[in-house]
Amino acid sequence: MRYRPFGAIGVNVSSLGFGAMNLPGVPLEQARAALNYALDNGINYIDTAAAYRNSEEIIGECISHRRDEYFLATKTNKRDYATAKEEIDRSLTRMRTDVIDLLQIHYVNYVHDFKAAMEEDGAYRAALEAKEAGKVRHIGITGHRPELLAKWIQKGQFEQVLFHLNLAQPFALDELIPEMVRRNMGRVAMKPLSGGFIRPVDKAIRYPYSQDVHVIISGMVSVEEVKENIAAMGREVEEAERRELESLALKLGTHNCRRCNYCSCPLGIPIPDVMISSVVSKEFGLLPKGNGFYEKHKEKIMSCADYEPCKETPLCQKQCPYHLPMQSVIAQAAANY
Ligand code: SF4
Ligand code: SF4
Repeated sequence: MRYRPFGAIGVNVSSLGFGAMNLPGVPLEQARAALNYALDNGINYIDTAAAYRNSEEIIGECISHRRDEYFLATKTNKRDYATAKEEIDRSLTRMRTDVIDLLQIHYVNYVHDFKAAMEEDGAYRAALEAKEAGKVRHIGITGHRPELLAKWIQKGQFEQVLFHLNLAQPFALDELIPEMVRRNMGRVAMKPLSGGFIRPVDKAIRYPYSQDVHVIISGMVSVEEVKENIAAMGREVEEAERRELESLALKLGTHNCRRCNYCSCPLGIPIPDVMISSVVSKEFGLLPKGNGFYEKHKEKIMSCADYEPCKETPLCQKQCPYHLPMQSVIAQAAANY
C-alpha cells in the first residue's frame, strides 16, 4: 500500500480507499468486519455519501470508536444552502463524529447544477460555513463530466475532485488530471471496476494505481474483497506494465461514454452500463455482476430495435453531449443474446 500527501491538503492517505456505498446491502456484522479489517490493514480513507442509504450510519456504528485512524470523506447532493446545511449536520450525527475531513458537493454533472450549488444561497456556502465552524476540514466536488470539472476548479474553490478513472473510462487523463496536478489538488479516482463490469480485477485496480492519483475508491462489502483489492496494490507498477495498461484503456475506452447520465430511455434501458460494458465484454467477457445485469435487462434491450418513437431519430442520442451511437450499441448487445 502506498501513502502520499493528499495534494495541498497534506494528510498522508492510503492509495486504496474504502468505498462504503454498498455496505447497506450486506448484514451489519459483515460490514463491521470489512471496515475494521480495512483499517487494520492500512486503509485510512473512508468514502461515503449522505445519499448512500444508511451507509453513514453503518460507518458511525462500526468504526467511529477508531475515528483518529481514518480520513473521512462524505458528500451532499443538495444544491441549496438550507438543505445542504441540514444534511451536513445530519451526516455528522449519523457518522458519530465532530468533524468531516472532506465534504464533497456530490454528482455535479450539469452547468445549471453547478451554478445552483455555487450561488449565494447554494450548497457551497453551507459547506464553507461548516468549514469555518470546524465541522468540515476540506471541500471537494464529484462528477462525471471530466472536461467540465476541469473548468469548474479554475477559481480555486475546491481542494479535491472525485472522478471516474478506470480501464473503460480513461477520460479524466485528458484535461482534468493534468489541471489538478498543476493545482496540487487531492485526486481521487472512483469505480475501478466501473460498477462491476471490468475484469480481470487485478488489472482493473492496477490501471488507476499506475496513474497520478492519490486514492482509488473501490466499493467493498466483505473481508475477501478488501483482501483482493489490497493484494492488487501489493507492488508498484513498472513502466512496461503501465504502458500495457494504458494501451488496454485506449482500446476499452473506445465507446466514449462518460456515464454522465444525460440520456434516458423510455424503456428503461440503462444505456451507460451497456455502452461501457460493450467493449469490455467483447475483449474479456464480464464479471458475474455484469452477466447478471444482461440477464436482468434482456427484455428491454431486445425491445429497443422495435420501439416506434426511436425509429427515425433515437431519443437517447439527441440527449448525448458526445453524439454517441447508442442505438447501434444496444442493437449489438441484443444480438449477443
Ligand atoms: S434508441 Fe433504444 S435505447 Fe435509445 S431511447 Fe430509444 S429505445 Fe431507448
Ligand atoms: S451515452 Fe452519452 S449521454 Fe449517455 S451517459 Fe454516455 S456520454 Fe452520457
